[in-house]
Amino acid sequence: MRILVSNDDGIHSPGIATLARCAARLGEVRVVAPDVERSAAGHSITASRPVRIRPTHLFDDIAAFRVDGTPADCVALGVHLWGEVDLVLSGINLGANLGNGTWHSGTLAAAQQAALLGIRGIAVSAPVEDDPTQLDPLVPWVDRALAEALAADAPLVNVNLPLNPRGIRWTAQAVHEYHGRVTPDRHPQGGDLYWFTVAPFTSPPEGTDMHAFDDGCVSLTPLRLDLTDHARLEAVTRAHI
Ligand code: MN
Repeated sequence: MRILVSNDDGIHSPGIATLARCAARLGEVRVVAPDVERSAAGHSITASRPVRIRPTHLFDDIAAFRVDGTPADCVALGVHLWGEVDLVLSGINLGANLGNGTWHSGTLAAAQQAALLGIRGIAVSAPVEDDPTQLDPLVPWVDRALAEALAADAPLVNVNLPLNPRGIRWTAQAVHEYHGRVTPDRHPQGGDLYWFTVAPFTSPPEGTDMHAFDDGCVSLTPLRLDLTDHARLEAVTRAHI
């Protein structure tokens, strides 16, 4: 199995090194990732200029390349150059990608780009911020989550691991609440500034990714590319006639 590994935290993130090592137990691995952090890049592509790809030494036994583009660029280019890719893994993102937050995620977008190309995509995120040694105890759970996602034959899966997981659950994306906030600040030289921040989670519904994560379980959410509201489409079509 040929596995392309990408992320949105950049090629030097400890998260992508951990995921590449997990991937190497499943097949032949190549890393293609942004040269700098592109978190919250969403599914943007670089359309106004060409992108450059350069070899980068991460491991002696895994080829790695950095791209001056977005996560979606990395997957599109990585697949184009490598040819037959069976699976794209994205992450491990340093920070969870849950609920409506996934709309902004470059981590998920890399997996989505795979799905657009007809390749299976799995995004992996964990709330590891300042202490990358927190990734090591998660490795057996990443292995287990990948095995579970692959066995499920789902084309696109969003995986979130809490620290010290106690189980694994399949979940739905929590869309009951949006946690994005605009927070005002002042520029040191005068004038208004605004931070795009997030508010803490509040009691998400059972069965959702946020609920499982809050409950200490690894969350696997099967996603689809079709955003059409099919029930609504049927209703408006009926009303229209
Ligand atoms: Mn990120």
